[in-house]
Amino acid sequence: MPGLLEGKTALVLGVANRWSLAYAIAQALKRESADLILTFQGDRQRQGVEQLAEELSAAALPCDVTQEEELGLLAEAIKTRSGRLDAVVHSIAFAGKEDLSRPFVETSRGGFLLAQEVSAYSLVSVARAVAPLMAGGGSILTLSYLGATRVVPNYNVMGVAKAALEATVRYLASDLGPSGIRVNAISAGPVKTASARGVKDFSKVLDAVAERAPLRRNTEPAEVADTAVFLASDLARGVTGNVIFVDAGFQIMGL
Ligand code: NAP
Repeated sequence: MPGLLEGKTALVLGVANRWSLAYAIAQALKRESADLILTFQGDRQRQGVEQLAEELSAAALPCDVTQEEELGLLAEAIKTRSGRLDAVVHSIAFAGKEDLSRPFVETSRGGFLLAQEVSAYSLVSVARAVAPLMAGGGSILTLSYLGATRVVPNYNVMGVAKAALEATVRYLASDLGPSGIRVNAISAGPVKTASARGVKDFSKVLDAVAERAPLRRNTEPAEVADTAVFLASDLARGVTGNVIFVDAGFQIMGL
């Protein structure tokens, strides 16, 4: 049986290692026969991401999302290689560790702006760079978290960045919808990754979910990845501007 993404080219930004949500998503996109392109941020990550790309028969290209020039070069390289893009996964966030442990009221101007730039504004600049490659339509997907709308201890500045990210999804969906480009977010339950480890007492968040979520367990990266496949595929052709929760149901609970 042909894969759900047969004949489609997908760009995945944010694979750092095998624990990254972006890696689980890349594996699932590959399983569904997508032609894959991964990116790495700078020379520090090059070797590791190139290795993972080779295992997935994917291309690996450089891209620091804070550098407009690198985004332009990425789009040019994809145009030369594939001619077009059908799906883009933006799985990128960053905040200083000190801003994920001290009281939110202590957040510095610089720390606030850095989190916004890398974690929210980058979706705007990525969308602007890739939209011309999506003539005839496509899917852009980003990763959010419950901290966008609820207070989660220590998530702080990243919660505010995720709120901006989710609003960005809606504005981009409105702008790009007439071109057939859909823009959505998956709000994933907490998963132990390199980024998540930066949040103070993250293991307490995992414990609370396992105890209280309707499914009484934490989220598996593969569950997030299968929803990403759906959103990248034509099965989701009527879905745009949404935040879809893949969190074992945790977000519906009051107490
Ligand atoms: P991760 O493996 O650490 O992935 C974060 C990625 O962002 C890394 O590949 C990192 O690259 C990249 N990145 C940071 N700054 C960048 C820049 N300037 N340019 C390009 N790439 C940059 O952690 P993850 O948990 O999978 O995070 C992926 C996404 O899922 C994030 O948006 C996160 O907020 C979201 N999310 C995570 C959870 C969770 O519990 N893990 C839950 C909900 C949502 P470097 O390693 O090179 O810095």
